Amino acid sequence: MAVLAAAGCTGQVDERRAGAARQQVALKKKAVPKPLPPRRMDCAAVKCLALTFDDGPGEYTARVLDDLRKAGARATFYMLGQNVGSHPDVVRRMPLEGHEVANHSWSHADMTGLSSGAVRSEVRRTQEAIKRASGVAPTSFRPPYGSTDARVGKAVGMPQILWSVDSLDWLHRNVRKNVRAGVSEPEKGGVVLFHDIHKPTVTAVPEILAGLKKRGFTLVTVTELFQGQRLDPGGRYTELGEKGPTVAQ
Ligand SMILES: [Zn+2]
Repeated sequence: MAVLAAAGCTGQVDERRAGAARQQVALKKKAVPKPLPPRRMDCAAVKCLALTFDDGPGEYTARVLDDLRKAGARATFYMLGQNVGSHPDVVRRMPLEGHEVANHSWSHADMTGLSSGAVRSEVRRTQEAIKRASGVAPTSFRPPYGSTDARVGKAVGMPQILWSVDSLDWLHRNVRKNVRAGVSEPEKGGVVLFHDIHKPTVTAVPEILAGLKKRGFTLVTVTELFQGQRLDPGGRYTELGEKGPTVAQ
């Protein structure tokens, strides 16, 4: 009887152990967060707008992510490869929270002044840094200063996304002006340029998000905005027009 009881007891312990192990496996599986994929957006029908933040990641980028999350908004971050290593956790958050990671070169050089080999190197190193930090490789490029040409485009090898609204936040460094530009200037299908490395820009973000929501915009990533549209490698695009992507002049 005593032997049987002991055996029964051991069996229970084994079962408990197996259960705990199964639970741990389940927890481990759950603990690996997955990037939120782009949503299916019909931006011909929906009033879509893509906010983009350039030149980061920086010390204020986490605040932008917090504010976007509170507002249920998505954005695209055109990052400099040289900044990624200082803020890997922030970059890691981006795809997990539905935002798009994007390539803005390694060093913010004017690409038209570089050899094609140097352009390729700027792009490749930045791709690698962002992929390493976030697990996701960018699918679009924004040339620093918007400066590019056919040769640069060919070396970049990805669609080049410019903008339809320049907030001039880098020039004004003024919260009120950022809010005014960010809320009143965008139109349906637009791409808005901001810089998350400037404090007045980041301070303006909650009010901009609220103002755009009031105007009926759905804030989407660049990929969501141009979804289902053909973007050519090296091509230059500024916004989503009535008839599809608007090509830069
Ligand atoms: Zn820039």
